[in-house]
Amino acid sequence: MDSAKRARAEAWLKYGNDLGLGPYFRNRTPLDASPAVESTLTPSFEMAARTKSAANSRSAPAAAPSPKASSAPSSMVGASLPVISSAPGPTLFEAAERKVGETLDDIRADLGECTRCRLHKTRNKIVFGVGNPKAELVFVGEGPGHDEDVQGEPFVGRAGKLLTQMIEAMSLRREDVYICNVVKCRPPENRLPEKDEIATCSPFLLRQLDAIQPKVICCLGACAAQTMLATAQGISKFRGEWFDFRGSKLIATYHPAYLLRNPPAKSEVWKDLQKVMAVLGLQPKKR
Ligand code: SF4
Repeated sequence: MDSAKRARAEAWLKYGNDLGLGPYFRNRTPLDASPAVESTLTPSFEMAARTKSAANSRSAPAAAPSPKASSAPSSMVGASLPVISSAPGPTLFEAAERKVGETLDDIRADLGECTRCRLHKTRNKIVFGVGNPKAELVFVGEGPGHDEDVQGEPFVGRAGKLLTQMIEAMSLRREDVYICNVVKCRPPENRLPEKDEIATCSPFLLRQLDAIQPKVICCLGACAAQTMLATAQGISKFRGEWFDFRGSKLIATYHPAYLLRNPPAKSEVWKDLQKVMAVLGLQPKKR
């Protein structure tokens, strides 16, 4: 193995260890990685190398490394339904055990007044998640902002109002779906969550998703999408594609906060939501 390849493989393992997933990463990327393995390694290494400067592009579609094309056949029934792709990177969660019979209340009780990562020092309230515990559709955002931190509920600020409008346009009510975030405490100054914060908090998100077992998970923004799919690809490269995620269909779209800054992108998001509606058998709300 040449030195550049070895350096990338070692960085990959360090990244996995930082996330507490060292053995899993080691199995996926042995140091004598084949070229095929290396092609999955590179994007995630780039994710690991992401710097704080990315905080300025919070939830916006970022410039991306070259995408890994995928054309796996769909396992979904229905002529108009889209193809399901392989994840752009190896998903962090695919090897995690599923806890059978756990409820959202169990998970909330286990979380407690969490001090597992540094974000607890500056938060007001833990924002666990809200909505239907048997929802067919779960929205996953990045993390609480100011309003959410004050109220203890996700997506209640301006972006949250827009999300509610999006949900209602899908002929659903907010209480029909479940809404949560990658991290449950507000990052100071609304910065991006750090990778160790994500690694500490996201297992609770995984348990929530396992408890709900939704038909569809919709990632809102780059942070949620890149975390769930373990990729550094810009969200614009895979937005609107379907992925398998532990028995659920996962799709990523832009964050409502991004839409507030870039209203023309609403039409793209609406196309993504229409794909979700097709899977859930929903008709657009009549005006
Ligand atoms: Fe705990 Fe998550 Fe809050 Fe960190 S962000 S303190 S892991 S609840």
